[in-house]
Amino acid sequence: MNIHEYQAKELFTQYGVATPKGQAADSAAEALEAAKALGTNDLVVKAQVHAGGRGKGTFKNGFQGGVHLADSPEKAQELASQMIGQVLVTHQTGEEGKLVRKVLIAESVDIAEEYYFAILMDRATERPSIIASSEGGVDIEEVAASHPEKIFKEAVHPALGLQQFQARKLASQLGFKGAQIRAASKLFMAMYELFISCDCSMVEVNPLVLTKDGDVLALDAKFNFDDNALYRHPAIAAMRDPEEEDPREVEASKFDLNYIGLDGNIGCMVNGAGLAMSTMDIIKHSGGDPANFLDVGGGASEDQVKEAFRILCGDPKVEAILVNIFGGIMQCDVIAQGIINAAKTVDLNIPLIVRLEGTNVEQGRALLNESGLALITAEDLGDAARKAVEAVNNAA
Ligand code: ADP
Ligand code: MG
Repeated sequence: MNIHEYQAKELFTQYGVATPKGQAADSAAEALEAAKALGTNDLVVKAQVHAGGRGKGTFKNGFQGGVHLADSPEKAQELASQMIGQVLVTHQTGEEGKLVRKVLIAESVDIAEEYYFAILMDRATERPSIIASSEGGVDIEEVAASHPEKIFKEAVHPALGLQQFQARKLASQLGFKGAQIRAASKLFMAMYELFISCDCSMVEVNPLVLTKDGDVLALDAKFNFDDNALYRHPAIAAMRDPEEEDPREVEASKFDLNYIGLDGNIGCMVNGAGLAMSTMDIIKHSGGDPANFLDVGGGASEDQVKEAFRILCGDPKVEAILVNIFGGIMQCDVIAQGIINAAKTVDLNIPLIVRLEGTNVEQGRALLNESGLALITAEDLGDAARKAVEAVNNAA
């Protein structure tokens, strides 16, 4: 799960990570209030969407940039009114962009230097790993490609945690001097505490800055949380913003379905993650494109199957549906009944290709045959994928 910058900064404040004061607003009037409450004329207005590159982004109405400095609360209000309700396109949003519903009004600072700082789970070393660079405010992938010597890494022992000497070493590698080393390493220690305590899989601060007054501050924040640990953090789970997520995935999560939206046009309903992966592979191999990954699991109920099928049918991108079930624990008749129940509630006007095998397959096939649903039956996985691709191509 991801959260907005303004929410990330609430966590920063809670854990003692130095960051400029700020407050979110969802209207221009609220932006004015928030700006006045900060008690300064040095302000910044930042569009809140789950995507980076906002500063260099463009609104669909032509307004340039999702991050702007303002020199009075009135100016902040005016900027907020230009951003709220508008669609911002950045290199991370895709060309459809993202609707800005909120802005963050924060204190602006005089930046002397920009740095990059991130903590993530590194599978190679099986440890939390810190990545930092003296080149901040830019794409870290570009720095990695053009100036790999400017990127510093520090693996953290999971039982010992980040050690003071490691934090100080990083600070001096980045070029901090004297008292700034203390300030930077204090920030790194607090950030690590936050990363572990909140079960993050990534925190990224780009840029981390040194101000002209000598303060070290986190100006931007991007978080990823381990979804499987969210039950331990109700306050963080409550920060979820479904408006920022794929609506198909939001719907699927309500029914405990393992669903990932993709860009293709063949909707897939499969039991078991491995079979779902190979179904997607074989669709690709046959020249098609899956519209989703969907594992209904081993013990799905009729109702879950029904909801899964409804989500596939409701996706305007889907031009054919491929049901591929290998009934082990899952029973083919349960799947068949779920599909039949769902088909009663939706107008199924696209081809439905079904491959059933395994437990109660005869009952499942009989149910489908008697249902009067127009379906294309397939003998095996290869046959099913070919028929799905054919169905989509014929429709085009
Ligand atoms: P994004 O990465 O989405 O473009 P950032 O939060 O990194 O958004 O903001 C873009 C740039 O705006 C930063 O690199 C920084 O130069 C400037 N900026 C952001 N917040 C502030 C602030 N509080 N004071 C001064 N400048 C800021
Ligand atoms: Mg940034």
